[in-house]
Amino acid sequence: MRYFPTFTDLDGRSCLVVGGGAAACAKVRLLLKTPAKITVIASEFANEIAELDTDRALTLLSRPFRSVDIEGHDLVFAATDDPSLDTIVSDAARAAGVAINVVDRPALSSFIIPAIVDRDPLVIGISSAGSAPVLARSVRARIEAILPAGLGRLAGFAESFRSSVKATIPTSLARRRFWEDFFSSSLASRVTAGDVTAARKEMLARVNAHEHRKKGSVAIVGAGPGDPDLLTIKALNYLQLADVVIYDRLAGPDVVDYARRDAERVFAGKAKGRHTLTQDQINHHMLQAAKSGKRVVRLKGGDPFIFGRGSEEKAFLEAHGCEVEVVPGITAATGCAAASGIPLTERGITQAVTFVTGHGANGEPDLDWASLARLNQTLCIYMGVSTADWVADRLIGEGLAPATPAAIVENATRPNQRILRSRLDEVGSTVAREGVAGPAIVLIGEVARDANQAALDHIAESIAV
Ligand code: SAH
Repeated sequence: MRYFPTFTDLDGRSCLVVGGGAAACAKVRLLLKTPAKITVIASEFANEIAELDTDRALTLLSRPFRSVDIEGHDLVFAATDDPSLDTIVSDAARAAGVAINVVDRPALSSFIIPAIVDRDPLVIGISSAGSAPVLARSVRARIEAILPAGLGRLAGFAESFRSSVKATIPTSLARRRFWEDFFSSSLASRVTAGDVTAARKEMLARVNAHEHRKKGSVAIVGAGPGDPDLLTIKALNYLQLADVVIYDRLAGPDVVDYARRDAERVFAGKAKGRHTLTQDQINHHMLQAAKSGKRVVRLKGGDPFIFGRGSEEKAFLEAHGCEVEVVPGITAATGCAAASGIPLTERGITQAVTFVTGHGANGEPDLDWASLARLNQTLCIYMGVSTADWVADRLIGEGLAPATPAAIVENATRPNQRILRSRLDEVGSTVAREGVAGPAIVLIGEVARDANQAALDHIAESIAV
């Protein structure tokens, strides 16, 4: 991040704008929203500027710019439409150590102005660091569209209760909880809509009645197979409210980035060469945090209830009196299906799908191989890379055709995703040859034949009938 976003207090400050045309006028208009004293210097002023409302501290000086004009100003804007004059202003400001912005010339500027969404006192600045201003503006348009106009009113309303909330609710954690509850309440929606007077009374009652009881909780949240866009909205909301996020390797760092910035992040491990917590330590960490009033998110790859030990953690926490919610996620098998274009079921070809683990408690899994081989189904094998050879042998031994199509989908939905097509009797050698190392699912069944072709054949068949 080359440009670090900050907001500057312009109360009692003085700003200089050099230039008298449209660009200067745009800057003056923006500055007029602040309490700053504004001086504009230009040899000539367009009507636009001359006509600006001047009941505010706006001084127009109609004369050429001189370097000494910088003195006494906190921010300088050069918007002269004259590249050499812009450079002179920039040099003078830099020499005097005053912050300078030159319109459309980041190289001459010590700060840049973001695209702004204004719901004062709530203000959002969006910058692409000069790389794609049009993108920044389109992001602004999207944010404008989702933020109600009355949001500023809501922020002002909250501000007016800040000190009484601080006086009534002692800890910062409880205060944050109070505000989180308030901002998601129907009371807040009414303030946004303009119903402020009645809302004041209700808010007072709310502040005074607030229970300062510590109430923590744990959400066991499915993070999906890796692409953060595959998080559910609920998962995202929980991540943004969390005080503590405990995650393991499969719930990748890209997903953890969506957590509230100040949330404590705990890596629970399961990666080679890094310190890992035992299941017992994870359980106790969650419990302790929840008991101290924190909101804990236990982030798990895929879905917490599919080969995720989610139920064990839930049972432990509930046995110790902790509230637990489970938020489902997109499991690796469905992530792999979408990523590879291989459907897990296909009309007329495969009517069943089974999720199996390729890894038993003591290594090789103890499964009913005969029925797995018989059902004319799709098998999605989790944790099956190291035992792929062995699993294939068992299935072939129970009568599944050696030429049954198979695919290995590694790191599905991540940037390093690989889709390797194979057949049952070659799955093990494909894994070895390609050096499959990341998390991968082995898909076995007719659906793994060239998927699109199979679907088209079937459609053609239905038409023929
Ligand atoms: N609860 C998880 C599964 C955890 S078991 C879920 O619902 O997806 C771990 C196994 O999941 C890995 O060994 C691998 O088989 C599979 N897996 C997880 N993420 C994956 C990904 N992005 N691509 C392919 N397989 C993945």
